[in-house]
Amino acid sequence: MTAEPRGERALPVIGPEVDPRPGLSGVGLSELEAWLDTRGEPRYRARQIGDAVWRGDATTAHDVRTLPATLRETLDATFRWDTVADTEVRITDAGLTEKALHRLTDGAMVESVLMHFPGAAGRRERHTLCISSQAGCAVGCPFCATGELGFTRDLTSAEILDQVRHAARSPAQDGRRLTNIVFMGMGEPLLNLDNVLGAIEALADAKRFGLGARHITVSTSGVVPGIRRLTAMGPQFTLAVSLHAARDSLRDVLVPLNRRWPVAEVVEAARDHARKTGRRITYEVTMIGGINDTELDAQAMADLLRGDLAHVNLIPMNPVAHTPWQASSMETIERFARTLRAAGISTTIRRNRGQEIGAACGQLAAERAGEPAAPAVARRRDRIVRDSARALRGERSREPIPAGVGD
Ligand code: SAH
Ligand code: SF4
Repeated sequence: MTAEPRGERALPVIGPEVDPRPGLSGVGLSELEAWLDTRGEPRYRARQIGDAVWRGDATTAHDVRTLPATLRETLDATFRWDTVADTEVRITDAGLTEKALHRLTDGAMVESVLMHFPGAAGRRERHTLCISSQAGCAVGCPFCATGELGFTRDLTSAEILDQVRHAARSPAQDGRRLTNIVFMGMGEPLLNLDNVLGAIEALADAKRFGLGARHITVSTSGVVPGIRRLTAMGPQFTLAVSLHAARDSLRDVLVPLNRRWPVAEVVEAARDHARKTGRRITYEVTMIGGINDTELDAQAMADLLRGDLAHVNLIPMNPVAHTPWQASSMETIERFARTLRAAGISTTIRRNRGQEIGAACGQLAAERAGEPAAPAVARRRDRIVRDSARALRGERSREPIPAGVGD
Protein backbone atom coordinates (compact mmCIF):
# COMPACT_ATOMS: atom_id res chain seq x y z
CA MET A 1 0.00 0.00 0.00
CA THR A 2 1.34 3.44 -0.78
CA ALA A 3 -0.07 6.74 0.35
CA GLU A 4 1.21 10.15 1.20
CA PRO A 5 1.54 10.97 4.89
CA ARG A 6 -1.74 12.70 5.67
CA GLY A 7 -1.34 13.89 9.26
CA GLU A 8 -0.62 17.47 10.14
CA ARG A 9 2.88 16.29 10.84
CA ALA A 10 4.58 13.14 9.76
CA LEU A 11 7.43 10.90 10.75
CA PRO A 12 10.59 11.99 8.98
CA VAL A 13 11.54 9.80 6.06
CA ILE A 14 15.07 10.35 4.86
CA GLY A 15 14.61 9.49 1.25
CA PRO A 16 14.46 6.13 -0.50
CA GLU A 17 15.35 2.84 1.11
CA VAL A 18 19.06 3.25 1.77
CA ASP A 19 19.68 -0.46 2.19
CA PRO A 20 18.00 -2.53 -0.53
CA ARG A 21 18.88 -5.92 1.03
CA PRO A 22 15.78 -7.79 2.32
CA GLY A 23 15.75 -8.60 6.04
CA LEU A 24 16.85 -12.18 6.65
CA SER A 25 14.24 -12.97 9.31
CA GLY A 26 11.46 -12.53 6.73
CA VAL A 27 12.94 -15.17 4.44
CA GLY A 28 11.34 -18.61 4.91
CA LEU A 29 13.20 -21.90 5.00
CA SER A 30 12.19 -22.96 1.50
CA GLU A 31 13.15 -19.59 0.05
CA LEU A 32 16.53 -19.85 1.74
CA GLU A 33 16.97 -23.36 0.37
CA ALA A 34 16.18 -22.13 -3.13
CA TRP A 35 18.71 -19.34 -2.71
CA LEU A 36 21.34 -21.82 -1.50
CA ASP A 37 20.58 -24.05 -4.52
CA THR A 38 21.36 -21.22 -6.89
CA ARG A 39 24.71 -20.78 -5.18
CA GLY A 40 25.52 -24.49 -5.24
CA GLU A 41 25.44 -24.66 -1.44
CA PRO A 42 23.89 -27.60 0.43
CA ARG A 43 20.33 -27.11 1.63
CA TYR A 44 21.08 -27.97 5.25
CA ARG A 45 22.77 -24.60 5.50
CA ALA A 46 19.28 -23.05 5.51
CA ARG A 47 18.63 -24.67 8.87
CA GLN A 48 21.96 -23.42 10.23
CA ILE A 49 21.17 -19.89 9.05
CA GLY A 50 17.68 -20.04 10.56
CA ASP A 51 19.05 -21.26 13.88
CA ALA A 52 21.56 -18.43 13.96
CA VAL A 53 18.88 -15.85 13.13
CA TRP A 54 16.39 -17.08 15.71
CA ARG A 55 18.49 -18.56 18.44
CA GLY A 56 22.09 -17.49 18.31
CA ASP A 57 23.69 -14.34 19.61
CA ALA A 58 25.24 -13.35 16.28
CA THR A 59 24.82 -9.67 15.47
CA THR A 60 25.92 -9.93 11.83
CA ALA A 61 26.17 -12.72 9.28
CA HIS A 62 29.93 -12.64 9.80
CA ASP A 63 29.45 -13.98 13.35
CA VAL A 64 27.85 -17.24 12.18
CA ARG A 65 30.85 -19.50 12.56
CA THR A 66 28.99 -22.65 11.56
CA LEU A 67 29.02 -21.30 7.97
CA PRO A 68 32.01 -21.20 5.65
CA ALA A 69 33.55 -17.73 5.25
CA THR A 70 32.50 -17.37 1.61
CA LEU A 71 28.87 -18.10 2.43
CA ARG A 72 28.96 -15.62 5.31
CA GLU A 73 30.16 -13.02 2.83
CA THR A 74 27.41 -13.68 0.28
CA LEU A 75 24.79 -13.92 2.98
CA ASP A 76 25.81 -10.50 4.25
CA ALA A 77 25.89 -9.05 0.74
CA THR A 78 22.41 -10.39 -0.04
CA PHE A 79 20.39 -10.03 3.18
CA ARG A 80 20.19 -7.66 6.10
CA TRP A 81 20.85 -9.45 9.37
CA ASP A 82 18.77 -7.04 11.42
CA THR A 83 16.40 -4.37 10.13
CA VAL A 84 16.00 -2.67 13.52
CA ALA A 85 19.68 -2.42 14.40
CA ASP A 86 19.33 1.29 15.20
CA THR A 87 17.18 1.20 18.32
CA GLU A 88 16.87 3.34 21.41
CA VAL A 89 15.35 1.82 24.56
CA ARG A 90 13.63 3.70 27.35
CA ILE A 91 12.76 1.90 30.57
CA THR A 92 9.84 3.00 32.75
CA ASP A 93 7.54 1.67 35.49
CA ALA A 94 10.51 0.62 37.64
CA GLY A 95 11.78 -1.70 34.93
CA LEU A 96 8.41 -3.24 34.09
CA THR A 97 8.02 -1.45 30.75
CA GLU A 98 10.62 -1.09 28.00
CA LYS A 99 9.78 1.12 25.08
CA ALA A 100 11.94 0.70 22.02
CA LEU A 101 12.09 3.26 19.24
CA HIS A 102 13.44 1.64 16.09
CA ARG A 103 14.84 3.75 13.28
CA LEU A 104 14.56 1.81 10.02
CA THR A 105 17.08 2.21 7.25
CA ASP A 106 15.00 4.78 5.36
CA GLY A 107 14.61 6.85 8.52
CA ALA A 108 11.03 5.76 9.27
CA MET A 109 10.49 5.25 13.00
CA VAL A 110 8.37 2.63 14.71
CA GLU A 111 7.92 1.58 18.30
CA SER A 112 7.59 -1.63 20.20
CA VAL A 113 6.82 -1.94 23.91
CA LEU A 114 7.85 -4.85 26.12
CA MET A 115 5.80 -5.23 29.30
CA HIS A 116 6.70 -7.50 32.18
CA PHE A 117 3.87 -8.70 34.39
CA PRO A 118 5.18 -10.38 37.52
CA GLY A 119 3.39 -13.55 38.56
CA ALA A 120 0.61 -13.18 41.09
CA ALA A 121 -1.55 -15.62 43.01
CA GLY A 122 -2.78 -18.17 40.52
CA ARG A 123 -1.28 -16.29 37.61
CA ARG A 124 1.98 -17.00 35.82
CA GLU A 125 4.36 -14.18 35.00
CA ARG A 126 3.94 -12.76 31.52
CA HIS A 127 6.25 -10.93 29.14
CA THR A 128 4.09 -9.27 26.52
CA LEU A 129 5.51 -7.52 23.49
CA CYS A 130 3.44 -4.97 21.62
CA ILE A 131 4.68 -4.53 18.04
CA SER A 132 4.03 -2.22 15.11
CA SER A 133 2.83 -3.28 11.67
CA GLN A 134 3.16 0.06 9.87
CA ALA A 135 5.13 3.29 10.26
CA GLY A 136 2.32 5.67 11.15
CA CYS A 137 -1.31 4.86 10.41
CA ALA A 138 -3.79 6.11 7.84
CA VAL A 139 -6.89 5.55 9.98
CA GLY A 140 -6.38 8.68 12.07
CA CYS A 141 -8.23 7.97 15.33
CA PRO A 142 -8.13 11.31 17.18
CA PHE A 143 -7.15 9.85 20.59
CA CYS A 144 -4.15 7.97 19.18
CA ALA A 145 -0.62 9.37 18.96
CA THR A 146 0.07 7.28 15.86
CA GLY A 147 -3.15 8.43 14.22
CA GLU A 148 -1.98 12.02 14.41
CA LEU A 149 1.21 11.18 12.54
CA GLY A 150 -0.53 9.91 9.43
CA PHE A 151 0.73 7.05 7.30
CA THR A 152 4.33 6.65 6.23
CA ARG A 153 4.61 3.09 4.94
CA ASP A 154 3.93 -0.60 5.54
CA LEU A 155 6.56 -2.58 7.40
CA THR A 156 8.03 -5.66 5.77
CA SER A 157 7.66 -9.03 7.51
CA ALA A 158 11.30 -8.80 8.54
CA GLU A 159 10.81 -5.36 10.08
CA ILE A 160 7.89 -6.75 12.09
CA LEU A 161 9.85 -9.84 13.13
CA ASP A 162 13.00 -7.97 14.03
CA GLN A 163 11.08 -6.02 16.68
CA VAL A 164 10.45 -9.43 18.27
CA ARG A 165 14.08 -10.54 17.90
CA HIS A 166 15.15 -7.27 19.48
CA ALA A 167 12.89 -7.72 22.51
CA ALA A 168 13.82 -11.38 22.90
CA ARG A 169 17.45 -10.27 23.23
CA SER A 170 16.62 -7.62 25.84
CA PRO A 171 18.81 -8.05 28.91
CA ALA A 172 15.69 -7.83 31.09
CA GLN A 173 14.41 -10.97 29.39
CA ASP A 174 17.35 -12.70 31.02
CA GLY A 175 16.86 -15.87 29.05
CA ARG A 176 13.09 -15.91 29.67
CA ARG A 177 10.76 -16.34 26.71
CA LEU A 178 8.29 -13.76 25.53
CA THR A 179 4.89 -15.17 26.45
CA ASN A 180 2.57 -12.97 24.34
CA ILE A 181 2.83 -10.88 21.22
CA VAL A 182 0.19 -8.29 20.39
CA PHE A 183 -0.13 -6.27 17.19
CA MET A 184 -1.24 -3.20 19.09
CA GLY A 185 1.62 -0.88 18.30
CA MET A 186 1.71 1.57 15.42
CA GLY A 187 -0.36 0.89 12.36
CA GLU A 188 -3.42 -1.03 11.24
CA PRO A 189 -2.30 -4.66 10.78
CA LEU A 190 -5.19 -5.62 8.51
CA LEU A 191 -4.16 -2.93 6.03
CA ASN A 192 -0.76 -4.67 5.77
CA LEU A 193 -2.13 -8.15 6.02
CA ASP A 194 0.25 -10.08 3.74
CA ASN A 195 3.32 -8.92 5.63
CA VAL A 196 1.60 -9.40 8.99
CA LEU A 197 0.61 -12.97 8.06
CA GLY A 198 4.15 -13.65 6.84
CA ALA A 199 5.47 -12.47 10.20
CA ILE A 200 2.95 -14.53 12.17
CA GLU A 201 3.90 -17.64 10.22
CA ALA A 202 7.50 -17.18 11.35
CA LEU A 203 6.48 -16.41 14.94
CA ALA A 204 4.35 -19.54 15.17
CA ASP A 205 6.84 -21.80 13.33
CA ALA A 206 8.58 -24.11 15.81
CA LYS A 207 11.76 -23.94 13.72
CA ARG A 208 11.79 -20.16 13.90
CA PHE A 209 10.34 -18.20 16.85
CA GLY A 210 8.04 -20.97 18.02
CA LEU A 211 5.34 -19.09 19.94
CA GLY A 212 1.92 -20.79 20.03
CA ALA A 213 -0.54 -18.93 17.82
CA ARG A 214 -2.89 -18.70 20.82
CA HIS A 215 -0.43 -16.29 22.36
CA ILE A 216 -0.56 -13.92 19.41
CA THR A 217 -3.22 -11.20 19.19
CA VAL A 218 -3.96 -9.03 16.18
CA SER A 219 -5.94 -5.87 16.84
CA THR A 220 -7.90 -4.15 14.09
CA SER A 221 -9.87 -0.94 13.92
CA GLY A 222 -12.40 -2.77 11.74
CA VAL A 223 -11.11 -3.62 8.26
CA VAL A 224 -13.97 -5.89 7.26
CA PRO A 225 -12.39 -7.57 4.17
CA GLY A 226 -9.31 -8.33 6.29
CA ILE A 227 -11.41 -9.93 9.04
CA ARG A 228 -13.23 -12.02 6.43
CA ARG A 229 -9.93 -13.14 4.93
CA LEU A 230 -8.75 -14.27 8.37
CA THR A 231 -12.00 -16.14 8.93
CA ALA A 232 -11.55 -18.04 5.68
CA MET A 233 -8.12 -19.15 6.91
CA GLY A 234 -9.62 -20.81 10.00
CA PRO A 235 -8.53 -20.45 13.62
CA GLN A 236 -5.21 -18.68 13.71
CA PHE A 237 -4.66 -16.29 16.57
CA THR A 238 -6.74 -14.05 18.78
CA LEU A 239 -8.56 -11.27 17.00
CA ALA A 240 -9.20 -8.03 18.87
CA VAL A 241 -11.50 -5.38 17.45
CA SER A 242 -11.15 -1.76 18.53
CA LEU A 243 -14.81 -0.93 18.99
CA HIS A 244 -14.82 2.28 21.06
CA ALA A 245 -18.46 3.03 20.25
CA ALA A 246 -21.55 1.13 19.12
CA ARG A 247 -23.22 4.12 17.51
CA ASP A 248 -22.13 5.01 13.96
CA SER A 249 -22.28 8.76 14.51
CA LEU A 250 -19.74 8.56 17.32
CA ARG A 251 -17.63 5.79 15.81
CA ASP A 252 -17.31 7.80 12.57
CA VAL A 253 -15.33 10.30 14.64
CA LEU A 254 -13.44 7.97 16.99
CA VAL A 255 -12.45 5.49 14.25
CA PRO A 256 -12.72 7.29 10.90
CA LEU A 257 -12.60 3.93 9.11
CA ASN A 258 -16.19 3.51 10.33
CA ARG A 259 -17.26 5.78 7.45
CA ARG A 260 -16.17 2.97 5.13
CA TRP A 261 -17.16 -0.07 7.21
CA PRO A 262 -19.89 0.86 9.69
CA VAL A 263 -20.00 -0.74 13.10
CA ALA A 264 -22.79 -3.23 12.28
CA GLU A 265 -20.69 -4.66 9.41
CA VAL A 266 -17.62 -4.86 11.61
CA VAL A 267 -19.44 -6.69 14.39
CA GLU A 268 -21.16 -8.99 11.87
CA ALA A 269 -17.74 -9.96 10.44
CA ALA A 270 -16.34 -10.44 13.96
CA ARG A 271 -19.36 -12.55 14.93
CA ASP A 272 -18.90 -14.77 11.87
CA HIS A 273 -15.24 -15.09 12.78
CA ALA A 274 -16.09 -16.24 16.31
CA ARG A 275 -18.73 -18.65 14.98
CA LYS A 276 -16.52 -20.23 12.33
CA THR A 277 -13.31 -20.39 14.37
CA GLY A 278 -14.82 -21.00 17.80
CA ARG A 279 -12.50 -18.29 19.11
CA ARG A 280 -13.85 -15.50 21.26
CA ILE A 281 -13.47 -11.97 19.94
CA THR A 282 -11.97 -9.34 22.22
CA TYR A 283 -13.45 -5.88 21.84
CA GLU A 284 -11.31 -2.96 22.99
CA VAL A 285 -12.99 0.21 24.18
CA THR A 286 -10.86 3.24 24.99
CA MET A 287 -12.88 5.17 27.57
CA ILE A 288 -12.96 8.90 26.89
CA GLY A 289 -14.57 11.18 29.48
CA GLY A 290 -17.92 12.62 28.36
CA ILE A 291 -17.51 11.23 24.83
CA ASN A 292 -18.16 7.50 24.60
CA ASP A 293 -18.80 6.64 28.25
CA THR A 294 -22.45 7.67 28.63
CA GLU A 295 -25.21 5.31 29.72
CA LEU A 296 -26.68 5.63 26.22
CA ASP A 297 -23.41 4.29 24.77
CA ALA A 298 -23.19 1.48 27.33
CA GLN A 299 -26.74 0.45 26.45
CA ALA A 300 -26.07 0.61 22.70
CA MET A 301 -22.99 -1.57 23.16
CA ALA A 302 -24.91 -4.04 25.30
CA ASP A 303 -27.61 -4.30 22.60
CA LEU A 304 -24.99 -4.74 19.88
CA LEU A 305 -23.02 -7.53 21.58
CA ARG A 306 -25.69 -9.35 23.59
CA GLY A 307 -25.42 -13.12 23.10
CA ASP A 308 -22.08 -12.96 21.22
CA LEU A 309 -18.97 -15.02 21.89
CA ALA A 310 -17.15 -11.88 22.95
CA HIS A 311 -15.18 -10.23 25.70
CA VAL A 312 -14.94 -6.49 26.25
CA ASN A 313 -11.90 -4.68 27.64
CA LEU A 314 -12.57 -1.17 28.92
CA ILE A 315 -9.36 0.87 28.94
CA PRO A 316 -9.11 4.40 30.32
CA MET A 317 -7.72 6.62 27.56
CA ASN A 318 -4.00 7.19 27.96
CA PRO A 319 -3.25 10.89 27.90
CA VAL A 320 -1.87 11.96 24.52
CA ALA A 321 -0.85 15.34 23.23
CA HIS A 322 -3.11 17.41 20.98
CA THR A 323 -6.50 16.04 21.88
CA PRO A 324 -8.99 17.93 24.03
CA TRP A 325 -10.00 14.62 25.67
CA GLN A 326 -9.22 12.80 28.90
CA ALA A 327 -9.85 9.39 30.37
CA SER A 328 -13.27 8.65 31.86
CA SER A 329 -13.41 8.47 35.64
CA MET A 330 -13.10 5.02 37.18
CA GLU A 331 -16.60 5.38 38.57
CA THR A 332 -18.01 5.96 35.08
CA ILE A 333 -16.05 3.03 33.68
CA GLU A 334 -17.39 0.80 36.43
CA ARG A 335 -20.95 1.88 35.66
CA PHE A 336 -20.37 1.17 31.95
CA ALA A 337 -19.05 -2.28 32.85
CA ARG A 338 -22.10 -2.99 35.01
CA THR A 339 -24.43 -2.25 32.09
CA LEU A 340 -22.49 -4.62 29.82
CA ARG A 341 -22.33 -7.35 32.44
CA ALA A 342 -26.04 -7.02 33.12
CA ALA A 343 -26.52 -7.93 29.45
CA GLY A 344 -24.40 -11.06 30.02
CA ILE A 345 -21.29 -9.68 28.29
CA SER A 346 -18.01 -10.60 29.94
CA THR A 347 -16.18 -7.36 30.64
CA THR A 348 -12.80 -6.44 32.12
CA ILE A 349 -11.56 -3.06 33.23
CA ARG A 350 -7.85 -2.49 32.73
CA ARG A 351 -7.00 -0.44 35.77
CA ASN A 352 -3.31 0.12 36.09
CA ARG A 353 -1.45 -0.62 32.95
CA GLY A 354 -3.09 1.31 30.18
CA GLN A 355 0.08 0.52 28.31
CA GLU A 356 -0.93 -3.10 28.16
CA ILE A 357 -2.95 -2.52 25.05
CA GLY A 358 -0.34 -0.52 23.30
CA ALA A 359 -1.72 2.88 24.12
CA ALA A 360 1.85 3.86 24.88
CA CYS A 361 2.87 3.04 21.34
CA GLY A 362 3.38 5.92 18.96
CA GLN A 363 4.15 8.43 21.66
CA LEU A 364 7.94 8.25 21.42
CA ALA A 365 7.83 8.44 17.63
CA ALA A 366 5.44 11.38 17.90
CA GLU A 367 7.86 13.14 20.23
CA ARG A 368 10.63 12.57 17.72
CA ALA A 369 8.54 13.96 14.88
CA GLY A 370 8.68 17.26 16.75
CA GLU A 371 5.97 19.58 17.98
CA PRO A 372 3.65 20.63 15.16
CA ALA A 373 2.97 24.34 14.64
CA ALA A 374 0.60 25.85 17.23
CA PRO A 375 -2.09 26.80 14.68
CA ALA A 376 -2.17 23.21 13.39
CA VAL A 377 -2.68 21.92 16.95
CA ALA A 378 -5.44 24.47 17.54
CA ARG A 379 -7.15 23.49 14.27
CA ARG A 380 -6.94 19.83 15.21
CA ARG A 381 -8.47 20.42 18.64
CA ASP A 382 -11.26 22.53 17.14
CA ARG A 383 -12.01 19.88 14.57
CA ILE A 384 -12.15 17.13 17.20
CA VAL A 385 -14.44 19.19 19.45
CA ARG A 386 -16.72 20.12 16.51
CA ASP A 387 -16.89 16.57 15.13
CA SER A 388 -17.56 14.97 18.48
CA ALA A 389 -20.25 17.54 19.36
CA ARG A 390 -22.00 16.68 16.09
CA ALA A 391 -21.60 12.98 16.80
CA LEU A 392 -23.05 13.35 20.28
CA ARG A 393 -26.12 14.90 18.67
CA GLY A 394 -26.35 11.68 16.66
CA GLU A 395 -25.42 13.10 13.25
CA ARG A 396 -23.29 11.01 10.90
CA SER A 397 -19.94 12.43 9.83
CA ARG A 398 -19.74 14.36 6.58
CA GLU A 399 -15.97 13.99 6.53
CA PRO A 400 -14.47 11.80 3.77
CA ILE A 401 -13.13 8.30 4.32
CA PRO A 402 -9.41 8.66 5.18
CA ALA A 403 -7.21 8.37 2.07
CA GLY A 404 -5.67 4.98 1.48
CA VAL A 405 -7.90 2.92 3.77
CA GLY A 406 -11.11 2.29 1.91
CA ASP A 407 -10.01 0.50 -1.25
N1 SAH B 1 -4.67 -0.12 14.58
C1 SAH B 1 -5.04 -1.20 15.39
C2 SAH B 1 -3.93 -1.70 16.29
C3 SAH B 1 -3.05 -0.66 16.90
S1 SAH B 1 -3.83 0.43 18.08
C4 SAH B 1 -6.27 -0.85 16.21
O1 SAH B 1 -6.65 0.32 16.26
O2 SAH B 1 -6.87 -1.76 16.77
C5 SAH B 1 -3.96 -0.64 19.49
C6 SAH B 1 -4.99 -0.23 20.51
O3 SAH B 1 -4.57 0.95 21.23
C7 SAH B 1 -6.33 0.11 19.90
O4 SAH B 1 -7.37 -0.57 20.59
C8 SAH B 1 -6.40 1.59 20.11
O5 SAH B 1 -7.72 2.03 20.12
C9 SAH B 1 -5.68 1.78 21.40
N2 SAH B 1 -5.27 3.16 21.69
C10 SAH B 1 -4.69 4.04 20.85
N3 SAH B 1 -4.47 5.22 21.48
C11 SAH B 1 -4.93 5.08 22.74
C12 SAH B 1 -4.98 5.95 23.88
N4 SAH B 1 -4.52 7.20 23.83
N5 SAH B 1 -5.49 5.46 25.02
C13 SAH B 1 -5.96 4.19 25.09
N6 SAH B 1 -5.96 3.33 24.05
C14 SAH B 1 -5.44 3.77 22.89
FE1 SF4 C 1 -4.38 3.58 13.63
FE2 SF4 C 1 -5.12 1.95 15.64
FE3 SF4 C 1 -4.13 4.41 16.15
FE4 SF4 C 1 -6.56 4.17 15.08
S1 SF4 C 1 -5.90 3.44 17.09
S2 SF4 C 1 -4.95 5.58 14.40
S3 SF4 C 1 -6.27 2.41 13.74
S4 SF4 C 1 -3.05 2.72 15.21
